[in-house]
Amino acid sequence: MLKVGITGGIGSGKSTVCRLFEKFGVPVYYADDRAKWLMNHQEGLKEQLKENFGAASYKEDGLLDRAYLAGIVFKDSAKLELLNSIVHPAVFEDGKQWQIEQEALGATYTLKEAALLFETGSYLNLDRIIVVTVPEEIRIKRVMERDNTTEEEVRARMNKQMPQEEKEKRADYIITNIAWETLNIQISEVHEQLVYQAKRPQK
Ligand code: ATP
Repeated sequence: MLKVGITGGIGSGKSTVCRLFEKFGVPVYYADDRAKWLMNHQEGLKEQLKENFGAASYKEDGLLDRAYLAGIVFKDSAKLELLNSIVHPAVFEDGKQWQIEQEALGATYTLKEAALLFETGSYLNLDRIIVVTVPEEIRIKRVMERDNTTEEEVRARMNKQMPQEEKEKRADYIITNIAWETLNIQISEVHEQLVYQAKRPQK
């Protein structure tokens, strides 16, 4: 089974593209959503977060107090690094387990969607990488509409990410997400190639 990663800058359309791959029956691991779920439900991870950031990290209902944690890590890069060093390995292990399950279920290839695939080193354990790319101005407009936010806020989030061109340089496949029509064609082409490659001996 081929393990494929998919990434792209904020608002590039990673989730949208993954939902289209799902229509071909491809199993997708949404790492960012799963990270949120694990922080709320995985006891070992919850304990580690409480130990490092205080019991107040969790509300009375047992769910993560995101505002409290964001308040701690927002202005303190060492704390943000600490948080990542706790959460990323937990998501990585969970993703590995998920891949084993998908292989047992007979998947030809899987997709792992993550905003920070390169930054976390997660790409090292993947066989192929897809980067979704869109001109910056379009991304800004789409995110402003989706999140009902300002251009400044979107640009601030963008500036924290690896530049799009850097991601493109590391890609095995680039999907350009400007118009729906061309998006669907690109996805079927990449899908066909991945199925073909998954069935050949690995390099
Ligand atoms: P994030 O990095 O914030 O998680 P993302 O890369 O997963 O975002 P999406 O949420 O899939 O991006 O897409 C961003 C917005 O752009 C969404 O509102 C989505 O509906 C819209 N969008 C995605 N693709 C297109 C397209 N081809 N044409 C028009 N709108 C699109």
